[in-house]
Amino acid sequence: MTLRIPFSNSYITLPERFFAPCDPTPVAAPTLVRVNAALATLLGIDPAALADAEGVAVLAGNRVAEGAQPIATAYAGHQFGGFTPQLGDGRAILLGEVVGLDGVRRDIQLKGAGPTPFSRRGDGRAALGPVLREYLVSEAMAAMGVPTTRALAAVTTGEEVMRETALPGAVLARVATSHIRVGTFQFFAARRDTEALRLLADHVIARHYPEAATEEEPYRALLQGVVARQARLIAHWLLLGFIHGVMNTDNCSIAGETIDYGPCAFMDGYDPGAVFSSIDHAGRYAYGNQPAIAHWNLARLAEAMLPLLAEDEDTALATAHGALAGFRPAFEAAYLDGLRRKIGLSTGQDGDAALIQELLTAMAAGKADFTLVFRRLADAAAGQDAAVRALFTDPAAFDAWMDRWRARLEAEPQDAEQRAAAMRAVNPAVIPRNHQVEAALEAAVTRRDFAPFEALLDALSRPFDERPGLERFVEPPAPGGGPYMTFC
Ligand code: AMP
Ligand code: MG
Ligand code: MG
Repeated sequence: MTLRIPFSNSYITLPERFFAPCDPTPVAAPTLVRVNAALATLLGIDPAALADAEGVAVLAGNRVAEGAQPIATAYAGHQFGGFTPQLGDGRAILLGEVVGLDGVRRDIQLKGAGPTPFSRRGDGRAALGPVLREYLVSEAMAAMGVPTTRALAAVTTGEEVMRETALPGAVLARVATSHIRVGTFQFFAARRDTEALRLLADHVIARHYPEAATEEEPYRALLQGVVARQARLIAHWLLLGFIHGVMNTDNCSIAGETIDYGPCAFMDGYDPGAVFSSIDHAGRYAYGNQPAIAHWNLARLAEAMLPLLAEDEDTALATAHGALAGFRPAFEAAYLDGLRRKIGLSTGQDGDAALIQELLTAMAAGKADFTLVFRRLADAAAGQDAAVRALFTDPAAFDAWMDRWRARLEAEPQDAEQRAAAMRAVNPAVIPRNHQVEAALEAAVTRRDFAPFEALLDALSRPFDERPGLERFVEPPAPGGGPYMTFC
């Protein structure tokens, strides 16, 4: 079977200073871990061709597919608050773009494909564990309806990468509607390259925000659009208990997708201060800080875009402030709307935010399992209270809340069965639980046993279903597992 990838590359038509041409570096012994057949098909690629020897060679970077124009893209970024004017793809190579069967243009990128002109002191490589974590978590996010990059395939390289210890190497083929970041704008702003900023903004409008093109002020509309998408994205994260872990501006997608999964995690027990990343000592990127950080990142985008917003500085600043002011209300609305749905409300009333806050406060008091409380509350909506009560350290206090909740439900148009079904459609049963992710990574890394990875991936592909035999993926970790930490 000949592999045919219908490349249609647009980023490479931008000026040379946007990227550096760079081929992947071949690896010793590429072996396929997995191809995402459904995604390949959506992209117009035959999944069987991607899985045979020629396809695996392409996925490993040992062969450049016909039509690919491999580049490493340039970007800057604020990392933990400090600005670096040049980062760029140090271990990721953009092969090109395809327009899928759904008409959507997407990047195909190899993460871990070897050094690039942006690698600095890095080796350009990725370790198998983090590649599999990104595969699992990004596909789980997609299945839960969260805008995200996707995993097209993973291969092992047959080579070791040196981290704190020697680890097996891997390459992730990653798909995004684009890999353009807040940091891409910052790269040109730092160089006072207004012409490049304008070309970048025009590219982004055409590709991601076509509705902005017909506005009176297209760049203001673009900024407003990015603000709105980020606000909805962060609300979605919070509604699912997701913690990105490294919300640097170079990891903040202009298209509003979740991107650059590193030391990310879903919380088990509800704790607004939850942090899992081994490198986030100050808790800058804690669960509950994510809205404020997204707003901060967007302020950096607005700053970078100032020269595009107006001729004179005062007008540009006022425009930037106006657009940024849209973040809080958009976030609050999406978050409250989502929380209402999580507790089975299909209409809005004034006291809803307070009712929901009381529930969250009760959950935080005993670190009740975030995912299961809402999932079992759907059972309670259908008349079965025992399981949700058991998740609270003070069930009597929770009973008092349930009384108020039931009183509020009186004003709802749905019947109990409809309500339970609607709640189960937004409250996942299966999330990538840290202990299950770690078990899957451990088996793969230490024994090249990919069966636990496959089983978990299958469970995550239908997150809103509780299927018989998959109970272990629904259950929280056994108590006393110790604090969980992620490394990237
Ligand atoms: P990240 O923390 O993965 O978002 O990466 C931050 C920056 O470091 C980006 O410019 C990456 O390309 C670069 N980087 C991360 N890991 C490596 C590596 N192993 N080799 C080269 N560059 C890297
Ligand atoms: Mg160049
Ligand atoms: Mg990154």
